[in-house]
Amino acid sequence: MRGIADFHCDVLSKLLKEDSLDFNGSQTASLDVTYERLAQSGTVLQTFAIFIPAAAGAGIHPILQSIDLFHRKVLSCKGVQQIRTVGDLKRAAQSGSLAAMLSLEGVDGLEGHPELLRIMYLLGVRAVGLTWNHANWAADGIMEKRGSGLTAKGRQAVEICNELKLILDVSHLSERAFWEVVSQAEQPVIASHSNTRAVCDHPRNLTDEQLLALILMDGRIGITYVPWFVTQDAEPTIDDILRHVEHVCELGGERQLMLGSDFDGIDTHIQGLTNPVDTGRLIEAMLQRYSATQVDGFASGNAYRYLTKHLPTE
Ligand SMILES: [Zn+2]
Repeated sequence: MRGIADFHCDVLSKLLKEDSLDFNGSQTASLDVTYERLAQSGTVLQTFAIFIPAAAGAGIHPILQSIDLFHRKVLSCKGVQQIRTVGDLKRAAQSGSLAAMLSLEGVDGLEGHPELLRIMYLLGVRAVGLTWNHANWAADGIMEKRGSGLTAKGRQAVEICNELKLILDVSHLSERAFWEVVSQAEQPVIASHSNTRAVCDHPRNLTDEQLLALILMDGRIGITYVPWFVTQDAEPTIDDILRHVEHVCELGGERQLMLGSDFDGIDTHIQGLTNPVDTGRLIEAMLQRYSATQVDGFASGNAYRYLTKHLPTE
């Protein structure tokens, strides 16, 4: 096992709300993801989403504050290295460092200026989801009843992502926006934290058609631990997550599946899966049903193969 790669956590948004929280310390009761837990869990790669809660205000300032927090609180920890290129990824693996990647969850704060994605890129952002659940200047999110797709500026944003090879994350998009992004994107896209609608009929989960599109383009699907995306029938368990894994595999996505915990983005957890250390339990459960090679792919191999192909070389 090479370790765990997790493509989505929201710890930066908690740090943004409460600057006194200590990512690298013992007073971390209100955090799921901490330096110590990442180290203990054998996490080798963690994506840190910049998600701006409404209370943090509008505009670019809270985005920049989040990036500042990423530097001050996350990258300041020993052995944590920011990943901007394939070279960084390799160096982090060689030195046993934790690879830390920035993603932007919702372009709301760029306030109608798609060109600011270039500045985001310069600051190290390597994946972009155009929306959270609501509509914004770029596209409709999945909870917007209207269900429209991309705006003209949203299309410009995708064009800039194509130019920069910024990874497009389709997790929160409306179905129409999903298909429009998929048809305009010049490299395979990811759904960093979404499950399957066939197993749990929640709008944030992906239909079989969407899953197949991601699989066929060799994009990625990050299975997520958000309880209400796992099952709505009963108290969700780790075994219920495996039903989503199985469904993606049935569709042929064994090599496109990865993990997207959404730790710190949720207030309630699946029992026994409350922070990065517990991911070991999920891996154990996977090993009961899948080969070591398959589980290695789910845990980190598939995520690494994708990044090695799609991050800039240097
Ligand atoms: Zn999210």
